[in-house]
Amino acid sequence: MAYSQPSLLSDALCLRKQAGVRVIAGGTDFFPALRPGEQTENVLDITRVGGLSDITQTEDATRFGAAATWSNVVRADLPVAFDALKQAAREVGSLQIQNAGTIAGNICNASPAADGVPPLLALNAEVELASAARGTRILPLGEFITGVRQTVLKEDELVTAIIVPKQHVLMTSAFEKLGSRRYLVISIAMTAVNILLDAQGKIADARVAVGSCSAVAQRLTALEARLIGQDPYKLRISQDDIASLTPIDDVRGTASYRFEAVRHQVQRAIHKAVTS
Ligand SMILES: Cc1cc2nc3c(=O)[nH]c(=O)nc-3n(C[C@H](O)[C@H](O)[C@H](O)COP(=O)(O)OP(=O)(O)OC[C@H]3O[C@@H](n4cnc5c(N)ncnc54)[C@H](O)[C@@H]3O)c2cc1C
Repeated sequence: MAYSQPSLLSDALCLRKQAGVRVIAGGTDFFPALRPGEQTENVLDITRVGGLSDITQTEDATRFGAAATWSNVVRADLPVAFDALKQAAREVGSLQIQNAGTIAGNICNASPAADGVPPLLALNAEVELASAARGTRILPLGEFITGVRQTVLKEDELVTAIIVPKQHVLMTSAFEKLGSRRYLVISIAMTAVNILLDAQGKIADARVAVGSCSAVAQRLTALEARLIGQDPYKLRISQDDIASLTPIDDVRGTASYRFEAVRHQVQRAIHKAVTS
């Protein structure tokens, strides 16, 4: 196995062109998945690429470089619309995992239980991909992850950044994670919401994303439409509101438990967002 740690993005993209090269950042998904004695592919570690750990804000967007860790997210000075993402960051594994694991690695791994995906979906995040041959392309996160551990990433591409368009200054957010214990746990269900209230205290904009209850985390768009104009304190979430979810029975919980838990989780997350 060859291990490369380039400091220039152009070098990283050249190395990525070679067949059988596996990209890693924190390695917190990659290394635990290796079986004892398993031969790994050649590894391209992107954590030393200059600027790739930066989290930067412009007039139009916030940009998370592909090597930005969960700890970087927690420490970043971000608008309140990002509170859900920060809350998710604090609940990824332990501090050691948060110090090594990256937000981009989380979405590239494409686990249905990836805690970063619902808050990023609720922020309308986009994914920037780059290759030496074709340059850069940007696509919505909802189009990047296509199935369980499946993305549209091509053999010669790297994710270079996650980009979140500018959020309304009054938009608030919240994240709720259900596990079988409080910390260091894989999510049974998680919900992220972003809510904007109008001057009368009614919901003017709502984004609700749920993970671990379908192959790919999803936005509840029918519920989002129904929420407009509603008083967030009088709201009741029904089974119809979450009917697009397709949870499964697994070792962590049954489908019916997930359905019931998510109904309450969504309601709690909305209340939390508007009282934050
Ligand atoms: C003990 C433990 C607890 C954990 N707890 C949680 C948890 O609570 N919630 C949660 O969501 N996750 C959890 N995880 C999983 C993991 O820590 C996160 O998913 C983390 O964000 C992965 O980031 P990474 O940089 O370590 O990814 P890596 O392991 O480096 O990479 C993950 C995958 O993404 C690909 N990849 C990484 N970066 C790029 C890139 N820039 N371009 C293209 N492909 C790329 C790699 O090839 C690999 O397939 C846990 C893991 C461990 C070991």
